[in-house]
Amino acid sequence: MKIFCVGRNYAEHAKELGNDVPEEPVIFMKPKSALLQPQTPFYYPEFSNELHYEVELVLRISKNGKYISEDQAEKYVDALSLGIDFTARDIQAELKKKGLPWEKAKAWDNSAILGKWINLTPDLLENPLHFSLLKNGEAVQKGDSTNMIFSFSQIISNISNYFSLNIGDLIYTGTPAGVGETVVGDVLEGYLEKEKMFELTIR
Ligand code: MG
Repeated sequence: MKIFCVGRNYAEHAKELGNDVPEEPVIFMKPKSALLQPQTPFYYPEFSNELHYEVELVLRISKNGKYISEDQAEKYVDALSLGIDFTARDIQAELKKKGLPWEKAKAWDNSAILGKWINLTPDLLENPLHFSLLKNGEAVQKGDSTNMIFSFSQIISNISNYFSLNIGDLIYTGTPAGVGETVVGDVLEGYLEKEKMFELTIR
């Protein structure tokens, strides 16, 4: 199983971190060991002093494929979830400054949080998806899928030009503006429309 992540897929978020809006999807990966297993506590990583949450819509691949066209892309996805792409922002800033890869900031153990799955139906994809992240009961991030720079189909198609997609692969589709710091004791809750998708305490 592979975990793909899209960077800078919302213009307001690219801006808040001082990045240009990309001309093609920015893709990075996390290993399988990055996925926090269910019923497992999340611990603040000891190598960071600036842990950031990034709430993101997550797609689950249901069919093997390569060189998938945009108009066929939705056939390769069967479920939608909401998750967090945790980022050690201090480590990432150092790596970016040196022009080095991001893995130590992005791909560490348990850095990918996944909520429950919702089966995808065509009408679910036709309508805007609204999602949010609450920190200690207060909304800190609000997302709307219509603000994505690259659509689900464009992302799937683009990834599949470089990597074969396999059943069970995950795609984190990028975070909207509002990313920020979280500390030990915080409770993070993710909502897709009115549905609570996950709750996580930072330990
Ligand atoms: Mg992200």
